Amino acid sequence: MNEPKRKRGRPRKIDVLLRDSVLTPEKIAELRSMASKKEQAVERAQEAARQERVAAVEQTRVNNQILAHATKARTLAEFHGILRESLSEPSLKRYLEAQEVVKAMIRYSNEGWQLPPTDEDFMTVEAVIDLFDDHIANHGTIHDIEFESFILQNWHPQWAIYSTEQDVNDPTCPGLLPYWKDTERLMELCRAEGEPTRIYTLYGFETALPQYHVAKFKARIQEHRTTSAAGREMHRIHESIRCYLCRFEATHKF
Ligand SMILES: [Zn+2]
Repeated sequence: MNEPKRKRGRPRKIDVLLRDSVLTPEKIAELRSMASKKEQAVERAQEAARQERVAAVEQTRVNNQILAHATKARTLAEFHGILRESLSEPSLKRYLEAQEVVKAMIRYSNEGWQLPPTDEDFMTVEAVIDLFDDHIANHGTIHDIEFESFILQNWHPQWAIYSTEQDVNDPTCPGLLPYWKDTERLMELCRAEGEPTRIYTLYGFETALPQYHVAKFKARIQEHRTTSAAGREMHRIHESIRCYLCRFEATHKF
């Protein structure tokens, strides 16, 4: 660069500006703090990367342990049994408590329509649906019909995603493995579908509502409300397709 020569002994205008107006003590302090913030940001990023490496190593160790147990387990009960032994007391307690709530909700979605309005647990059909929605918003679901993982989305047959030692004898699915013996399926269920699905896959505890149960419950009620009069009559006549709303209305004489 061809900078014009500056006359000796005379500071450049910019120097004057920097010294006299830009680099005030406050400005210097601010620049120092910016530099230190930058350093802190670099340190934070390095620490995050370090923690990520530690977590990845730990995840590999845990996965290897799960796979070792999966190799040994002949039945689903054995697989869950071995893994449950590795749970800490607080985790086990937490899972069991969460499961109690879920079981009560599922029971309610099967039998709650029987309760008289005087019962303290009485709920309208809308209130049951709201209760389900709130629980799902707070706790997620156990994925059994909709999956995040591309591998699980494309896995067939879908009904057998949690195949047990009994399902492998199904003549329509030759070569089917129990899910814990299929490393890719097992690892995807643990990795990609959220905590309730991981817990269900490994330990068999239902700490959130299963997707299919909720979808079926809601779809049947929706069908009842939107079908033709003849369709609604089918709901009432046939025990097998009677929905929660049919039973609720019949009991409460709407
Ligand atoms: Zn119905």
